[in-house]
Amino acid sequence: MSSSPTLAVARLAELVGEGHVITEPTELAGYEVDGLQPAAVARPGTAEAVAEVVRFAAAEKLAVMATGGRTKLRIGAPPRGYDLALDVSRMNRVLAYDPGDLTLGVEAGIRFADLDRVLAEKGQFLPLSPAFADQATVGGIVATNSSTPLRHAYGSTRDYMLGMEFVTGEGNPVKSGGRVVKNVTGYDLHKLMIGALGTLGVITRVNFRTFPLPHAQGTFLASCESAAAALALCRAIARSPLQPRLVEVVEPQAAQILSGGRATLPAGCWSVVVAAAGEPGVVERHGAELARMAQGTHAGAFAGLADKEESALLGCIREFPKHVMEFCPAATIFRISVLPTQMELLLEHARQVAERSQFTWAALVRASGIVFVALLPTAAAPLDGETLRRLAQAATELIRASSVPEIGGRPMIEWCPLELKREVNVWGPVRDDLALMQRLKKVFDPQDIFSPGRFVGGI
Ligand SMILES: Cc1cc2nc3c(=O)[nH]c(=O)nc-3n(C[C@H](O)[C@H](O)[C@H](O)COP(=O)(O)OP(=O)(O)OC[C@H]3O[C@@H](n4cnc5c(N)ncnc54)[C@H](O)[C@@H]3O)c2cc1C
Repeated sequence: MSSSPTLAVARLAELVGEGHVITEPTELAGYEVDGLQPAAVARPGTAEAVAEVVRFAAAEKLAVMATGGRTKLRIGAPPRGYDLALDVSRMNRVLAYDPGDLTLGVEAGIRFADLDRVLAEKGQFLPLSPAFADQATVGGIVATNSSTPLRHAYGSTRDYMLGMEFVTGEGNPVKSGGRVVKNVTGYDLHKLMIGALGTLGVITRVNFRTFPLPHAQGTFLASCESAAAALALCRAIARSPLQPRLVEVVEPQAAQILSGGRATLPAGCWSVVVAAAGEPGVVERHGAELARMAQGTHAGAFAGLADKEESALLGCIREFPKHVMEFCPAATIFRISVLPTQMELLLEHARQVAERSQFTWAALVRASGIVFVALLPTAAAPLDGETLRRLAQAATELIRASSVPEIGGRPMIEWCPLELKREVNVWGPVRDDLALMQRLKKVFDPQDIFSPGRFVGGI
């Protein structure tokens, strides 16, 4: 940093307004990432101010991290530097919303819960269903490509995002995509921001297409004795004409964690949770067909849930990572993208790895192609040497096992104790397209100021 800290803070206050720069150590602690705290936090209120702050940071060679609700700031590898947090949570307005056209434009700092309320007033919703829903912001959800249970029916964020505005590492504002229709001319640059953890740019605005809330919804639960039976039912559903809203499988230990007084899940079972939505007749038909399929795949009990049970269970599934972290603060949570046909083998590998390393484990399966596996050390963080050695061994084995060709999974560690990040590459095996990603990073952030070192391959 070429300016003195005092001058820099004064300059930041000019750019974002008095009272919107934080330097108070106890407040800075709330922005800590992997043992690093920024020297200051700037809280701009407009996209123009974001661009100004980024230009200043580039000129001063400051390492900058964009922040939203700070519910998942620790995702990724430990950053190489962290001088300034750029907190966009003041930018929380709905900029454009046309319920008739099902189109929406929001500032990146809007909290999901607030947006959900605005849309519900018009009988609409966005199929984002984040954990930490009351704190998570749209910018953070997009930047982490957070997976939602509703992806089964609506796809992932990229499928209903129309466009975006973001600021590059040189402080240049960019508009990509559209506001009303999916604009297909040119490169879909905004899609590069999805899952980039703010390493290519600071998202300031996101445009979405919205969806009408269904007239009716029903949730059904099938209890299965084994992963094999549960996944056989999922495959039967996938082969059927049914179009459920979500299909999730809750492994027995995960069921115990979620049942900690909140959701009603039978103990010791693999629970298949299926939600259907639409006209009441459609929901009824799903119930009848699912009951028949559950019988055909030797599921044990099968039942439709009452509304209260339904919202408790779906709420718990959405907040799975939060419940796991409450249950075991030293948990290591893997997110593994994998084909449905490979899930059984992957789960068996996870069970064996956990058994060999003497860790309890838990799993949640998103039938459309994601498996969350948590290893649950009983020791509290910071981990003792022996526990850390076993955990590093187990994490390495699980990453290797899920990446072998016959499984073909894409594993990453979404959350774990800092000590483990120093032992294991949280992003999994190095990818063939790393060189191209490194070149892309240079184009969007030539001075490498955005969250240096946090991303895949140390980007
Ligand atoms: C272990 C764990 C697992 C989770 N799994 C899921 C899940 O599967 N599905 C789900 O929906 N939710 C999940 N969540 C909830 C998740 O926290 C939120 O969905 C969201 O990812 C974070 O939103 P946030 O506003 O708190 O972002 P923050 O925690 O503030 O930031 C998260 C990341 O996004 C970047 N970022 C934030 N804002 C911007 C911006 N405007 N521009 C550029 N980059 C930005 C940050 O630099 C950081 O890298 C999980 C949370 C945790 C802790």
